[in-house]
Amino acid sequence: MSGTTPKSCSVGHLSAPVRSSDPTGPREELAALESAGLLRSLRSLDSPAGPKVIRDGRELWNFASNDYLGLASHPALAEAFIEGIHRYGAGSAASRLVSGTLPPHRELEESLAAAKGAEASLVFSSGFATATGSLPALVGKDDVVVLDKLCHASLIDGARLSGAVIRVFPHNDVPKLDRLLEVIRKKQAGARVIVVTESVFSMDGDLCPLREIIETKDKHGALLFLDEAHAFGAIGPSGMGLAAQLGLQDRVDFQMGTLSKAAGLSGGYLACSAEWRDLLVNRARSFIYSTAPPPALAHAAMASLALIRSATGDALRESLHANIAAFAPGHPSPIVPIILGENQRTLDASKALEERSYLVPAIRFPTVPRGTARLRISISAAHPLEALAGLKNEIAAISRDRS
Ligand SMILES: *Cc1c(COP(=O)(O)O)cnc(C)c1O
Repeated sequence: MSGTTPKSCSVGHLSAPVRSSDPTGPREELAALESAGLLRSLRSLDSPAGPKVIRDGRELWNFASNDYLGLASHPALAEAFIEGIHRYGAGSAASRLVSGTLPPHRELEESLAAAKGAEASLVFSSGFATATGSLPALVGKDDVVVLDKLCHASLIDGARLSGAVIRVFPHNDVPKLDRLLEVIRKKQAGARVIVVTESVFSMDGDLCPLREIIETKDKHGALLFLDEAHAFGAIGPSGMGLAAQLGLQDRVDFQMGTLSKAAGLSGGYLACSAEWRDLLVNRARSFIYSTAPPPALAHAAMASLALIRSATGDALRESLHANIAAFAPGHPSPIVPIILGENQRTLDASKALEERSYLVPAIRFPTVPRGTARLRISISAAHPLEALAGLKNEIAAISRDRS
């Protein structure tokens, strides 16, 4: 590598280039997906989301949702939602900048900012909208976005929409990130450079080396955009994420998260300085040109945040981490991947588990790189030990069958 320009790797595994000779219909593309073991279709649950769900008339242990604390079905949140509807009605009726901002939106943003140790925060209708709205507001064509190779689709799309130059560093490889930033700085001394990564990676469940990444981005005068989607609620003091756990919140320029996972609802946020927030309010298109989330949802999100930060939240996190330790000793997050490689083998394994009453999704390209199809197990505080032990036995049987 010495003396040569480090070549950044691509995020190409996230674009599925299926070409068709028929411009008038999708049949060929669907057939191509089917024959590659990549066709997806919607299946619904016949029960609320929870540790146990019903699908096709059968009860299944649910290891497929991101409801790490079991809050999606928590009565306090449902009650807060209803209370919010009584107070503020069903919808917000306009975008935030027009007349869609109501007291709970403001209160939620203030509470999130305080909880994240930031000056300010801005709430979006989803985590996806947070990433695709904020990155293009922060950088443009003369700037550079530097992504970890395994970043979530929303971050990649946000980077692409921004028009900035996109560079990619191998997953969690800080020396490579350092070299890449050095080269970028040589070529574009004046560019705004944003390093984008996740604290808990959504399909691998591993953590980023946050302290080293911060030191590296500081060394090169770059900014850091950290997506804490799977850490918020689940990790760190009061569930405030990896940056909080390491005492590094004030060194992360943009702390992103979602209200859709451990918080049990939906929505996304970006916590940052008041000035950056002002810029986002003026430039983030998914914020400006979209109807404000229902005020009742913001009201419920306040209740969720309070619960996450309460002694009850601490107890739920303790159960969550005890469950993780029981299922996968030493694993740092609630997301446990079992990489099987082949699409069909992974689909078969998922189906076999479902027949034995465990709902575990098969994750395939383009969500993960080709050849790394996997079962993705999401552990919740709400899982009883018997379900964890049962799943562990079934997974061991699948692994034995392979060898
Ligand atoms: C789920 C997820 C998002 C999107 O959040 P939503 O609120 O579900 O839109 C963004 N980033 C990461 C890493 C995620 O896992």
